[in-house]
Amino acid sequence: MIKQLTSPSRRKLLRFAGASAIGVGLSGILISNATAGKQSKPKNPPPGDDPTTEQMIKHLRRANQVAKIAMEAGHHPFGAVLVAKDNETILMEQGNISSVAHAESTLAQRAAQKYTPEQLWGTTLYSTAEPCVMCAGTQYWANIGRLVYGMSERQLLDLTGNHDENPTLDVPSRYVFSKGQKAIKIWGPVEEVVQEIADLHKAFWT
Ligand SMILES: [Zn+2]
Repeated sequence: MIKQLTSPSRRKLLRFAGASAIGVGLSGILISNATAGKQSKPKNPPPGDDPTTEQMIKHLRRANQVAKIAMEAGHHPFGAVLVAKDNETILMEQGNISSVAHAESTLAQRAAQKYTPEQLWGTTLYSTAEPCVMCAGTQYWANIGRLVYGMSERQLLDLTGNHDENPTLDVPSRYVFSKGQKAIKIWGPVEEVVQEIADLHKAFWT
């Protein structure tokens, strides 16, 4: 919208609007132009290869180790890792800190401070459990182009029940991203690791 407002043709239109009595009619034109532009804008997928199943399993297992370390430090057993475009190099690891500083949102905030949005668009966030709406939102704004999660939010809810310390938000990450303007790719749940992630949560919540 800002770009459109500063384009030469738009400036010309605005000058015209200011010098005439048809401002209302013109604003209708501006809105329809903006809507048309939004609809036709393509969503570019993140660059590089998608991770293989073996790579997904390997990094989710590492994320689960991070979750275990967090649990042993007195936090909830959630872990996240950020992997570079090569699908091998681990750039960051983060465990859960608190009910408002989740593993994924904290990692995405740290990543956004360290890397540019362009760099992050090629990376992949691995999370032991499906990110909540806060974490998916932070990933979106950090511009991390891929998400792989081990256990789904529903599977986690089945394990914990309506636990006072885990009042989960039943909003799938796919739904959150579908409302955005970016072609973020998602994989999960990854059945090969669901049981071992569940085992850690069972030990904690029950
Ligand atoms: Zn979260």
